Amino acid sequence: MTGPSGADLWADAIARLSDAGVEDPQGDATRLMMAALTRVLGKQVKRHHMRDHLNAEAPPELIPAYRDMIEARTARQPVSQIIGYRSFWKHDFSVSRDTLDPRPETELLVETALELPWDSVLDLGTGTGAILISLLAERPAARGLGTDISQGALSVARDNAQRIGVTAEFAVADWFDGVDGRFDLIVSNPPYIAADEMAALSPEVREWEPRRALTDEADGLSAYRVIVAGAKAHLNPGGHVLVEIGWRQGGAVCALFEAVGAKTRILSDLDGRDRVVHAAF
Ligand code: GLN
Repeated sequence: MTGPSGADLWADAIARLSDAGVEDPQGDATRLMMAALTRVLGKQVKRHHMRDHLNAEAPPELIPAYRDMIEARTARQPVSQIIGYRSFWKHDFSVSRDTLDPRPETELLVETALELPWDSVLDLGTGTGAILISLLAERPAARGLGTDISQGALSVARDNAQRIGVTAEFAVADWFDGVDGRFDLIVSNPPYIAADEMAALSPEVREWEPRRALTDEADGLSAYRVIVAGAKAHLNPGGHVLVEIGWRQGGAVCALFEAVGAKTRILSDLDGRDRVVHAAF
């Protein structure tokens, strides 16, 4: 071997990520090397190929490609943004700096929605389209509309729908302002972090994810107030609303829905934290 081995690059990357305060340096160094190799070799490199690549001399083009990715990660850019996608439910979703990364906790909302009867669904603040596209992939005969205030997010969502092979409508809207018609189900994972909680977030989230997808710059409940106020006018009789919530917001969000006559329940995620409110109208 004349140049560095894959393992040399990998070990160096782990040290750099660790110095930068990254939580899982080894895991991230591995995922980024898989992505860099996939890019450079033009074919999918999976985890079980890694031992061979680590033992072999690194292809020369890998060195700058991997270096750039590790550099981005030391600046605390999320792995998903560096590699361009994040897995959610049954698909890989393209992500960008215009979209919130789909989170595993949100899969509870998808799972719950699939237990309900509906033929039409509205996803308010669709971002990557993760919720809407996952639902429509499971229920292809249903009609779905995803809205977002961000054009950048909607273009990511449209690409995701097309690549995954789902037919959905997308439209720019400010919550219900810009939405016509009625639906059987309304879903949303709105910005629910209170302004005074933003400072405590990791740099990955605070500095790289779109701020307006995270916080309402107020008490964290503003979006729910708007959704509750418009829900009845946009639901078919007997319709349902499912919203993701912060773990301490269950009581407050249920109270908002109950004040307009809905029946509510709270669902907990795998960590046992309140995560989704179901309101039945
Ligand atoms: N609906 C998207 C998701 O759950 C985006 C949510 C958001 O940007 N707040 O991933």
